[in-house]
Amino acid sequence: MSQISLTFPDGNIRHFDAGVTPAQVAQAIAPSLAKAAISAMVDGQHWDLQWPIHSDARISINTMKDDVPALELIRHDLAHIMARAVQEIWPDVKVTIGPVRDYGWFYDFDRAEPFTPDDLGQIEAKMKQIINARDPVRTEIWSRADALAYYEQRGEPYKVELVHKIPEDQDLRMYWHGDWQDLCRGPHFQHTGQVPADAFKLTHVAGAYWLGDSTRPMLQRIYGVAFKNRDDLKAHMTMLEEAAKRDHRKLGREMNLFHMQEEAPGQVFWHPNGWTIYTTLQDYMRRQQRRDGYVEVNTPQVVNRKLWEASGHWENYRENMFIVEVDEEGAREKVVNALKPMNCPCHVQIFNVGLKSYRDLPIRMAEFGSCARYEPSGALHGIMRVRGFTQDDAHIFCTLDQVESESKKFIEFLAKIYSDLGFDKWRVKLSTRPEKRVGSDEIWDKMEAALANACMAAGYPYELFPGEGAFYAPKLEFVLTDAIGRDWQCGTLQLDPNLPERLDASYIGEDGAKHRPFMLHRACLGSFERFIGILIENHAGKLPFWLAPRQVVVASIVSDADPFVEEVVTALTLAGVRAEADMRNEKINYKVREHSVGKVPVILAIGMKEVEERTVSVRRLGETRTETMTLDAIVAELSAAALPPDLR
Ligand SMILES: [Zn+2]
Ligand SMILES: [Zn+2]
Repeated sequence: MSQISLTFPDGNIRHFDAGVTPAQVAQAIAPSLAKAAISAMVDGQHWDLQWPIHSDARISINTMKDDVPALELIRHDLAHIMARAVQEIWPDVKVTIGPVRDYGWFYDFDRAEPFTPDDLGQIEAKMKQIINARDPVRTEIWSRADALAYYEQRGEPYKVELVHKIPEDQDLRMYWHGDWQDLCRGPHFQHTGQVPADAFKLTHVAGAYWLGDSTRPMLQRIYGVAFKNRDDLKAHMTMLEEAAKRDHRKLGREMNLFHMQEEAPGQVFWHPNGWTIYTTLQDYMRRQQRRDGYVEVNTPQVVNRKLWEASGHWENYRENMFIVEVDEEGAREKVVNALKPMNCPCHVQIFNVGLKSYRDLPIRMAEFGSCARYEPSGALHGIMRVRGFTQDDAHIFCTLDQVESESKKFIEFLAKIYSDLGFDKWRVKLSTRPEKRVGSDEIWDKMEAALANACMAAGYPYELFPGEGAFYAPKLEFVLTDAIGRDWQCGTLQLDPNLPERLDASYIGEDGAKHRPFMLHRACLGSFERFIGILIENHAGKLPFWLAPRQVVVASIVSDADPFVEEVVTALTLAGVRAEADMRNEKINYKVREHSVGKVPVILAIGMKEVEERTVSVRRLGETRTETMTLDAIVAELSAAALPPDLR
């Protein structure tokens, strides 16, 4: 038998018979490793312990200490174990597919009766039995004929359909968890007992069409989450509860910020409170942009398809565009326009007016650009995922040599803004050249180096995502972590030599000849709508004072205090604080409760004692104690707190 050499992470090379499995390799190193092993990495590929290795390779053995493969296997094995449990309890249920997803997995079943919460409990208990049985996991390659015969005989029409979908030249791999079998690419654990029995939970059931096709049967999708240990599961469940409490749709109602309605799906009706947050944030962003050398522009909403054809959107993005047809006078056929889904092509139109010289570059052109994109109704989510939104968009026109310094400048700009808005944890992702791309390797080297150097120079090391860039250039993405540990991608910096080319943008270089500028598409917040949703959830509605839409309510305890209440409101308003009076004939506790639900950060209660002493009784949101302050002192304190962080 021929020999192969396997290289270990420490550089050691060992020789084995070709066809050796990682399980045997682990055994050869140490029986304890063989026992702890869960899978292997073979030349960077996640490899089942049972799969043979036929040629020289780099190898490492994974154990539960290796988070990424461990979590993938836990979730993937649980999908199989759940399907087995369901069929053991209800043998008539048909199985389909069950992939791993964020934090867990789901599996789609065809069953006439809906799964109830009690059913989920029963399935969980059965899953634990299967785990505790430590049933071996086996795998085999089957012929198509055998697989079809097996599934037809067992009455599994969905599996038969799946087998037919797999290309003729591909192996069909089968996996057994005990006696239960599923068609699967793997890899999997050695035995069911490697799944932690106390670190998973079935969370909910939802309907899902077979293959996502609304003309096919509606299936029941059971979702589960799983982790390496009970503490991680507990932390996740707490996070979900916390997320539900912070849901911006719920807080949006309680704080009277906005609403949505059927006649305008995915578009926001901003109420005065919500619009106050929006404009406060926009004013802040506008000041930052001015300071950083941006010019602000505004471009049309309804734009002829010719421009979208030239920009490439008509070809590549049309299904996401709202089309507007108009009977233009004198035109023989309808004129076809689209609502702008992006601002970039319009910004190039502004750049293209008048001759530009290298001395004009860089041009940083910003727009609070309102865009419309068609999103399927199922994808819409409050104000976080919408059809109508406004980006804090800008395009920087520059030379390739300026890309690095402009990128660095933008990263510093964004860092200050995130910090001002209360997000101190964020990271940068650098996506580099994909397999299918345009442009020479030399240009790609320069573009990638420019973005990478910019991150390092700004002091923010990047995570590398090889192959994830656009077909024309690399990009940076900025991911925020919120107060309950969720990640939100908000900022982007996309380098682009392509659109200036398509829309014929040029400048006169130092050499007197015409050159193409590069464009940097960049956004910091992403869209105002989504970012405000993130802000609301991050702060659980208790926004920083300067962003709080209703900053102070001055509440009377007795009606004789009303004139002083009005005086206090006026003093605060003149000092730049958003203050309102509550002189309703209600008990003070009732008023405090109501405004606390509305997340008003400060309530000033005024009775006759306060009137006589010209003081206020201060109650801050989330605190039960009150303190007495003089009118002058509270006005001074709150007017300072009302200043946006950049104006302090
Ligand atoms: Zn599988
Ligand atoms: Zn753009």
